[in-house]
Amino acid sequence: MTTGADKAHLFKELTHAALEAWADKNIVARGKQYFHAGWVSNLALTSSGAVVARVRGERRYTAWVDFVAGGLNSRCTCPYELTCKHAVAVALAYQDRLKRGEEVPALEEDDPRHKVLRGAGRAVDEDEGDNLTPGPSPCILVMHSNSSGQGCA
Ligand SMILES: [Zn+2]
Repeated sequence: MTTGADKAHLFKELTHAALEAWADKNIVARGKQYFHAGWVSNLALTSSGAVVARVRGERRYTAWVDFVAGGLNSRCTCPYELTCKHAVAVALAYQDRLKRGEEVPALEEDDPRHKVLRGAGRAVDEDEGDNLTPGPSPCILVMHSNSSGQGCA
């Protein structure tokens, strides 16, 4: 089981190459733009060490990024089916905080973004013992993974 501290280390050491292995090259570039534009806000950590944040853009989305079995995983409220620029921006914003040594607050129990965590309908990692219980929400949330065999043609 990967602890929150382990994950923080993984996020801190995240390289550009790792991002491009996770998300499309153009998406990584867009995510960087979003991050540098300061469009990531309300960064918070779940009890399992995943990071959640709001990302502004044409619309406002909530993206969630976690390390599962050592690989990056994300969910987002946007309709993009693969790893999206919002997730990339959130990972970069978290990494930036870590490098600055700034605290990232814990996600409040009553934070509506818990819905994002619960809404995907699939537990991400059953070993984590966190709040990622499958919920009844409609399938607007897409699980992104860097493992092969997922994603679109
Ligand atoms: Zn998104």
